[in-house]
Amino acid sequence: MNILKEMELFNYENLVFGQDRDSGLKAIIAIHDTTLGPALGGTRMWAYSSEEEAVWDVLRLARGMTYKAAVAGLELGGGKAVIIGNPRQEKSEKLLRAYGRFVDTLKGKYITAEDVGTCQQDMDIISQETAHVVGVDPAKGGSGDPSPFTALGVFHGMKAAAKFVYGSESLAGKRVAVQGIGNVGYHLCNLLAEERAELVITDINQPVVEEAVREFGADAVLPQDIFSVQCDIFAPCALGAVINDETIPRLKCRIVAGAANNVLAEEYHGERLIEKGILYVPDYVINAGGLINVAEELCGYQRQRVIDRVVRIYDSVTEVLQISRREAIPPFQAANRLAEDRIASRKNRGSLQGVSKVG
Ligand code: NAD
Repeated sequence: MNILKEMELFNYENLVFGQDRDSGLKAIIAIHDTTLGPALGGTRMWAYSSEEEAVWDVLRLARGMTYKAAVAGLELGGGKAVIIGNPRQEKSEKLLRAYGRFVDTLKGKYITAEDVGTCQQDMDIISQETAHVVGVDPAKGGSGDPSPFTALGVFHGMKAAAKFVYGSESLAGKRVAVQGIGNVGYHLCNLLAEERAELVITDINQPVVEEAVREFGADAVLPQDIFSVQCDIFAPCALGAVINDETIPRLKCRIVAGAANNVLAEEYHGERLIEKGILYVPDYVINAGGLINVAEELCGYQRQRVIDRVVRIYDSVTEVLQISRREAIPPFQAANRLAEDRIASRKNRGSLQGVSKVG
């Protein structure tokens, strides 16, 4: 593995390793780009099979955060951290405090949050050692559960996509197939039902299916049948990689727009969707509501300001789709371009200011 070459290729700023023998901490923080602001990204605790696997993961995730924050219009850069270890067996207060001290050494260039294997209580412990953490207890100024905001962003992103495809942003009467009625899926169904969309739902957890049928008047299908439902919008809100060689031929929708991360199994599946006449709204654009919510802690949490910002995911999606149409590129490439343009224009502005200061 040639780490520095990888960092040079994708323009990473830092990759920092931290260990603490007393607590057993082994952690890695990757900072991809801080042009727009400090790098914010969660801490993933995972029993990686090798250090190499952990390094690849943290690099990939950090870069993803740069793009997500840039497209969401946040004054934040991209970073991520991993703690190597099984969160059920190896997490302790001592380890989290040592990790908090590690984060603190970066002096705010990296701000941490929860991710897979970490939770709000962990952030509370970390906050005893560093101020550079968000996702803490709402009683201490934290932002609380991000899922309703993620759902709200997905809902408005869907409206933008509907406007693009059908000429109207109204989802009334549109048939929406929702895969996964968990934290985000449930709130999304609620918003869609209020808008009088027709819901078809699935989940592997039968009680939540029954609740959604009762509460939202949804039709339920078996998990394996959700891909072939005749509908306007397919909303993946469970797992990643659900758009793949096996599922694409079965899709009978015009739009794919949901909360799940890494929806496309491979980039070329985005092109397959275009060939099928299906509009794909890039996951990291439409599911940024949770990031917008947690980032709000940095300037004193205000719920209404979060809602106003999350609703503007409509504009981000519209902009991405316009770029995609204008440049004849798939929406996921258009989203990357929008992020890269925002970062480049800030860099240019910075260097012009530098020139005028020198002059
Ligand atoms: P969750 O775990 O609360 O819900 C996921 C639901 O999907 C569960 O009810 C689960 O039973 C169901 N499920 C799992 N496998 C399934 C399958 N094969 N078929 C049908 N249903 C299945 O998770 P969540 O917080 O609602 O997040 C949903 C997705 O959105 C995840 O991919 C997550 O990474 C992504 N996401 C969430 C947020 C957030 O704010 N929670 C933010 C950004 C992205």
